[in-house]
Amino acid sequence: MATHHTKMLIIGSGPAGYSAAIYAARAMLEPIVVQGLQPGGQLTITTDVENYPGFRDVVQGPWLMEEMKAQAEHVGTRMIWDTIVSVDLENGAPFRAVGDSGDEYIGETLVIATGAQAKWLGVPGEMELGGKGVSACATCDGFFYRGKKVAVIGGGNTAVEEALYLTNHSDDVTLIHRRDSLRAEKILQERLFANPKITVLWNKAVDGFVGGENGMLHHLALTDTVTGEASTLEVDGAFVAIGHAPATELFKGKLPVDESGYLLTEPGTPKTAIPGVFAAGDVTDHVYRQAVTAAGMGCMAALDGERFLAARAHAAKETEAAE
Ligand code: NDP
Repeated sequence: MATHHTKMLIIGSGPAGYSAAIYAARAMLEPIVVQGLQPGGQLTITTDVENYPGFRDVVQGPWLMEEMKAQAEHVGTRMIWDTIVSVDLENGAPFRAVGDSGDEYIGETLVIATGAQAKWLGVPGEMELGGKGVSACATCDGFFYRGKKVAVIGGGNTAVEEALYLTNHSDDVTLIHRRDSLRAEKILQERLFANPKITVLWNKAVDGFVGGENGMLHHLALTDTVTGEASTLEVDGAFVAIGHAPATELFKGKLPVDESGYLLTEPGTPKTAIPGVFAAGDVTDHVYRQAVTAAGMGCMAALDGERFLAARAHAAKETEAAE
C-alpha cells in the first residue's frame, strides 16, 4: 500500500477529468487521475461521436477517450487505475482519499469528475434478468442480439442512438416511450423515423421484465399511459436508456447536492462549498451533459485549482513576512 501526493488529485477519467489533468499538468501541478471503474467514462460505451469539435469525420467514443488520456499523460499526468472508496474533506486542504487498492491519495486540491451512471426503471425482473436479456448499454451488449428481436426504453438522445445502433445487429428494433413525443435532438429523430428496422411504441410504460423457462428475458409487460390498457411485447433483449444519475455517493453529507443528487457549485464556476474542492462534468451538470461541456468544466476546475494554490502560497508568504 502506497501513499501518493499531488498538488491536484482528480477523481474520474471522462472528458472532465482528462481535461482538468491536461491543464493541471501544463501548470506543473503534477496531477494524479484516479480513473475509477470505467476508465474513459461514458464515452467508452458509445460509438459514433460527431459533435466533439476538431474532427471533421465521425470518431469513435473509445478512441476519443484514449486520445484524451494519451494527451494528459504526454504532458505529465499520472494515471492510476484504482477506485476511490472514501474521501476526507472535513479538515480542508490537503484532502485525503483512499482507493479500493488500499492506496492513499493526498491532494492539495481535489477535482471531482466522477460523472454519472445509467438509471434503471426499478421494476420487477429488471435486476434478475440483468445480463440475461436486460442491459443498459447497447454498444456493449448489442452484438449478442444479432438477428434477434430487441427493444429500447426511453425517448432521449441515448435511447434513439441505442435504437439506431442496434439496427447494425437486428432487423427488429422497438423503441418504447412513455409519451407521444421524443426529447431526442431532431436530427436523431429524423434518422430514427427513416429507419425501416425501427418501430416506435408510443405512450407505453414498462411495468416488468418477464423471463422464460430458460431463465432468459421472454417479454416485457407494458401499460398504455393514456388508456391504461395492459399488453406484452416479446423480445430477446431490452435496453434501458432513461438517463443517468450522478456518481456522488462518495460525497454524501460532505458536499451540498441538488434534489437530484448533482453536486452544487458556485454559479458559473466549478467551486464547491469547500475551498480547494472543485466539481466538473456530469457529476455537477444535469443540463448540458456533453463531452465538450464536461471538458470545458474540467479546464475551469484546473485553472481555479491553480489559482487556489497560488493564493494560498501568497497568503503563507505574507504570514511568514509578518512574523
Ligand atoms: P434524457 O434525460 O435526455 O432522456 C431520458 C429519457 O428517458 C426521456 O425521454 C424520459 O422520458 C425517459 N425516462 C426517464 N425516466 C423514465 C422512466 N422511469 N420510465 C420511462 N421513461 C423514462 O437522457 P439521455 O441519457 O437520453 O441523455 C442525457 C444527456 O446526454 C442529454 O443532454 C443528451 O442530449 C445527451 N446525449 C447526447 C448525445 C449526443 O449528442 N450524441 C448522446 C447521448 C446523450 P420523458 O421524455 O417523458 O421525460
